[in-house]
This record gives sequence, C-alpha cells and structure tokens, in this order.
Amino acid sequence: MRYEGKIYRPWIEADSQLIQVTLGCSINTCTFCNMFRDKKFRRRPLEDIFADIESMRRFYRHVESIFLIDGNVMVLKTDFLLKIVEKIRATFPEIQNISLYSGLNDLRRKTVKELTALREAGITTVYAGLESGDEQVLKDILKRMTRTQAIEGMEKAKAAGIRVLLSVIFGLGGHDRSREHIEATTELLNILKPEEIAPMALTVQPGTPLEADVQSGAFKLPTPLQILEEEKYLLQNLGDFDHYYWGDHGNNIAHMRGWMPRHRDMFLDHIKDQITGNPVTQKKVLETAPW
Ligand code: SF4
Repeated sequence: MRYEGKIYRPWIEADSQLIQVTLGCSINTCTFCNMFRDKKFRRRPLEDIFADIESMRRFYRHVESIFLIDGNVMVLKTDFLLKIVEKIRATFPEIQNISLYSGLNDLRRKTVKELTALREAGITTVYAGLESGDEQVLKDILKRMTRTQAIEGMEKAKAAGIRVLLSVIFGLGGHDRSREHIEATTELLNILKPEEIAPMALTVQPGTPLEADVQSGAFKLPTPLQILEEEKYLLQNLGDFDHYYWGDHGNNIAHMRGWMPRHRDMFLDHIKDQITGNPVTQKKVLETAPW
C-alpha cells in the first residue's frame, strides 16, 4: 500500500486497514485544524486504489474492517465510490465494515438513493465533524456548514441507513462563548440523534489561524473547568436516544466511554469527581498540546 503525506484516522478505527482514496480535505479552512494543510485536495486514480486493495489482499489473510482515507471521501462522485467499495467487497469477502470521513454537507449533496446504494454496496459508518451547533461558532471556525445543512445531511444518512459518528469540540467557543456553544451543540445533537458521539477537548495546533487568534488575543482560551462544565452540561442534557459515547479522546480531561443514556449517571459521577478533585481545574487557562 502507498500512503502520501500525514495520515489520520479516527482512534476508534485503530484496528482497521487503511486505503488512501483522497489526498487532503476539500474544505481545509477550519481554523483549528492543521491535518491536511500541506496537501491540495485531489482524488487518487482508480487504478492506484485498486492496486493497493489487491496488494493488501496479498499481505493480510483476514480483513474485517477498512477505513478509507484522507479527508471527506464522501465528497467523491457516487459512481467512483461505488467502484471502490465493490472492489473491496470482491477482494475481501470477509469484510464487515467499510467506513470513511464525510462532511454532513457531503451527505446532504447526495440523494438518498445514492446513499442507499453506497450502504447496500458496503459502506457502514461515516465519521463527520459537527464541531459545534452554535451558528456563530460555525461561522467563526470557517466550517462552511450551517445548522440547517447539518440537519439535512443527517436526515439523508438516516434515511439511507448509514451509521453516523459525530465529533464535537469542547471549548470551541472559547472562554467567552462556552455556554452558548455547548447549549446550541447539545440542542442540535438532540435533533440529529447520531448513532455515536465523540466529544474532544480543544487543542491549539501549530500554524493554524486559531493559534494566531490565541496569540493576538482575539480568541481567549477556555479554562479546564469550563471544558469539564461543558461535558457535564452535554451529559445532563443529551436526550434519551440510544447512542455510543466515545468520551475517551486523548485530549479530554475526563475519560469515559459507553452507552448513553444507560451510563449517564456513571459518566456524570465521573465528571463531578473531576470537577471537584482534579487539580487541573485550578488552572486559569486551558493548556493545549498538539494531537
Ligand atoms: S476539521 Fe475536517 S473539514 Fe475541517 S479542515 Fe479539518 S479535516 Fe477538513
């Protein structure tokens, strides 16, 4: 297999094999993100992707899960994606899971018929960054997505039967918009009702517009206590829809994962313990570190 540039995959996909389908991210503007700033977005030639799939077969006797990288692979034309998924299914009859990154806008731009065809061909899960439900924060971070668009994209994925994991970022509203950010994010998650939620605490990545804003004072970092209070608010106010909560990202102050709402009380006890007992809550500002 050949991989170009820095490679990212969700920590949840640690056991999956990776096939590179796109290079970079077609959005590439989000102010907090430096994942693909060194790559100009393009799709790889189909023959190269097929060659990698065949090469993977020679190396691995049993492959149950494949994650398609790089950034929002779902932006590609449906016919192109179908060819890749069908090739994977033909090469790995044992495959159980094919997943990829997608913007909610990429889901929105496809028809339910197209998404259903992709699901029937073998795509099981998409990982989408919601980041925030606060319209102002979405604008500030240059996400190029509105709440309405997020809702439309999610409705189509649900209609097609594609499982969606949404990531959100604690602290993305900064010190001054913490409350608005988490209230609007929780409210939107309760509308979207994703099958999985992966919250992570903000970190400031080197070379990003966010880093420049922190240095100039235009963005005031939240405190660790605010990060924990945001998670407490989220856990208290998420609706009673079944979903898996991946609260164990390496950036997070509190670490937990399990089913919601079944484990809500246990998670809240853990957050409250962190709020009262973790010395980090005495700090006046969130200390950030690279991913
Ligand atoms: S956060 Fe996601 S959509 Fe935004 S630039 Fe980074 S990879 Fe692209």
